[in-house]
Amino acid sequence: MMKPISLSAYSRVVFFTGAGMSAESGVPTYRGRGGIWAEYRWEEYACQDAFDADPNKVLDFHEQRRGRVLACQPHAGHMHLAALQAAHPGLSIITQNTDGMHQRAGAREVVELHGSLWRMRCARHGAVEDLGAAVYENRDCGLCGGLLRPDITWFADAVNAAVFARAQQLIEEAELFVAVGTSGIVYPAAGLVPVAARSGARMIEINPDETELSGMFGERVRETAGVAVPRVFEI
Ligand code: NAD
Repeated sequence: MMKPISLSAYSRVVFFTGAGMSAESGVPTYRGRGGIWAEYRWEEYACQDAFDADPNKVLDFHEQRRGRVLACQPHAGHMHLAALQAAHPGLSIITQNTDGMHQRAGAREVVELHGSLWRMRCARHGAVEDLGAAVYENRDCGLCGGLLRPDITWFADAVNAAVFARAQQLIEEAELFVAVGTSGIVYPAAGLVPVAARSGARMIEINPDETELSGMFGERVRETAGVAVPRVFEI
């Protein structure tokens, strides 16, 4: 079993999280058994074409997702990670999740590679926060009246280039890279793992299962996020 690690030995640390980070909170997954895409066709609910064809259908679906996420609470792993970040200013959280659970646990800065369920975006005026309720505050932009869409990277969308570049820079600088609950099959996000490996970071994977990218990690913790994050990393 891996001995506890003190982060004071590192000036730059990145935690890179995926859907498995929120699994113990009960946030519904997208793929696999019980996943959203087993029940709903993403072509009808999670791409720009679907939004253009029937925006209210897509927005209703996302309100339902927000309601499901709001009913979930951050777990001990989210809370511990937020406390680690508060104690170590050089710790960055980069997530593929859109659920906002890190922030609800108290994390201050989170790089959200795939956007957030808690923001809406106008094609002309950019993103606005829409926090804390399942139902959207507005479906139209207050400035131009244009339709707002969820600020999420849907199928066939490009990732936000500035956000991705920021993530890449943080990872290139990291001395310790910890991946939690990601399968490593969704690109381009998964391509950030080899970036960390090439930069010479100490590589730790937290995942109960083997993944596509496990071979890149020198240390593998086969436990869940809620158990391993508090156990392995000392405040
Ligand atoms: P994934 O669904 O492809 O893989 C999840 C990984 O988590 C698996 O390797 C699994 O073994 C592991 N896992 C399961 N339970 C775990 C636990 N308790 N602790 C630690 N690990 C656990 O997830 P991904 O790699 O993030 O890719 C899925 C894509 O879907 C991402 O792009 C993400 O944006 C999106 N997504 C987001 C959410 C969310 O916001 N919570 C949920 C589902 C999917």
